[in-house]
Amino acid sequence: MNTMDIQSYIDGVLNRERRMVSKTITLIESSLAAHQDMARRIIDSLLPHTGKAVRFGITGVPGVGKSTFIESIGMTLVQDGHRVAVLAVDPSSRRSGGSVLADKTRMEKLAAEPHAFIRPSPSGGALGGVARKTRETMLICEAAGYDVIIVETVGVGQSETTVASMVDFFLVLMLAGAGDELQGIKKGILELADGIAITKADGDNVAKARKAARTYDNALHFLRPASPVWIPPVLTCSAVDRTGIREIWQAVLSHRKKLSDSGELAQKRQQQALDWMWSLIEEGLKYRFNQNPEVKKHLPKLTRGVEKGTTAPTIAAEELLFFLDN
Ligand code: GDP
Repeated sequence: MNTMDIQSYIDGVLNRERRMVSKTITLIESSLAAHQDMARRIIDSLLPHTGKAVRFGITGVPGVGKSTFIESIGMTLVQDGHRVAVLAVDPSSRRSGGSVLADKTRMEKLAAEPHAFIRPSPSGGALGGVARKTRETMLICEAAGYDVIIVETVGVGQSETTVASMVDFFLVLMLAGAGDELQGIKKGILELADGIAITKADGDNVAKARKAARTYDNALHFLRPASPVWIPPVLTCSAVDRTGIREIWQAVLSHRKKLSDSGELAQKRQQQALDWMWSLIEEGLKYRFNQNPEVKKHLPKLTRGVEKGTTAPTIAAEELLFFLDN
């Protein structure tokens, strides 16, 4: 590949050509070193054209109504003149097996919109790798003029924390269930939320949804808000009736305005960029460690020693780390 090729990717993205946007994302997702290198150079050139979008993360258990909600808010935003990209972080997804998030038919109407771009989660592997690809894809989409980037995730492992760390506003979708409203909520999820929405507030479910909203609202009062200027609202919505959708978008915009005015949005993005750098460093160090020939040679013996209790873990770690310096 030569630099001419790279320029054509850059121009294609800046000219908002969907095919080139997709092709660039494919480079990002490729495991070939040559593709990775191209992707890095393309991102580097596109960087000045990124950062202007509203980065909007959405999570919720399977069945809560994420895709129906995203289709509904996505259509509303497109009709308002926005350009919307929908990305996903699903570490469990496999290209061949077909993940729920990869299933485009879930958002059929939005997928058909010329001003919407839907990309399934990069396929399986460790969360770190999937997250890196999604972050880079987000930058490509921003450079291609998408001004709202929705990043969707199911609550698998640490994926909520990971998505919360790459967006401006993190929305947690919840179901109004019978019984204890707070049951089944993973510890820490409320701390991550910039807003909560109770879904399927329609028909017979309206009263139940409102009651659930009050319960969550009370629960949030016991938490110290992440920002002094923002108390996460608890809203209700119905993607089917299309109610409450605009209110949620209004909350996103109001959060944005308040955090921009206080300087927190810029700070948040700065911190996210630094955290990202450090996670790349950690990933890179681990990779180099595992690839080191001396480490490869001595690891099995030391591992057995630690297992049998004949080598202290501290000694084993020190000996192995020593190889990195040489
Ligand atoms: P996801 O797994 O979180 O993406 O959830 P889906 O969007 O696939 O929705 C799961 C089920 O809930 C589907 O059968 C939807 O038709 C239904 N659903 C989604 N949103 C609503 C809503 O606002 N009201 C009602 N009544 N049903 C909904």
